[in-house]
Amino acid sequence: MTNTKCLITEKLYKILLEKGKSRENKPEHGGIFIGLIRGPHLEIDDLTFPSSDDNSKMFSFVRQERYHQKKALDAWKKSNFTKTYIGEWHTHPHGEAIPSTIDKNTWKKIVVRSKRSMVFAISTPLELKFFLGVLSIDNNQSFHLNPIDVDVVK
Ligand SMILES: [Zn+2]
Repeated sequence: MTNTKCLITEKLYKILLEKGKSRENKPEHGGIFIGLIRGPHLEIDDLTFPSSDDNSKMFSFVRQERYHQKKALDAWKKSNFTKTYIGEWHTHPHGEAIPSTIDKNTWKKIVVRSKRSMVFAISTPLELKFFLGVLSIDNNQSFHLNPIDVDVVK
């Protein structure tokens, strides 16, 4: 499972970096990643931003499923059923990009529901970090969260 590679376009990488900085000491922002699944690899090539329905607070980001699901569905149809929902991103208003207990529980639910590996990102004024949420292949299907280096592509 650790041979999973994650790619992101340079444009989106810069947007995420910028979001972390511009949201310093402001309520969290976030959205979903849309992209391609190529074997074990994930390619992020689009993302969503908070919709007006999203409940933005200083220490949590509760997104409204409907808006983001519609975005993912639109991408799925428009890309001839190749692009789909592959993860999530959000900002933290300060400090290092460390997932909170709530983040870990939320991500676990997403991975269990999706039944496949998903990529998660936290962007802060200091740093941008990516994590891969994986279900082990043993019978327990236990959840593992590992930091992952993404490859930034043009
Ligand atoms: Zn968080």
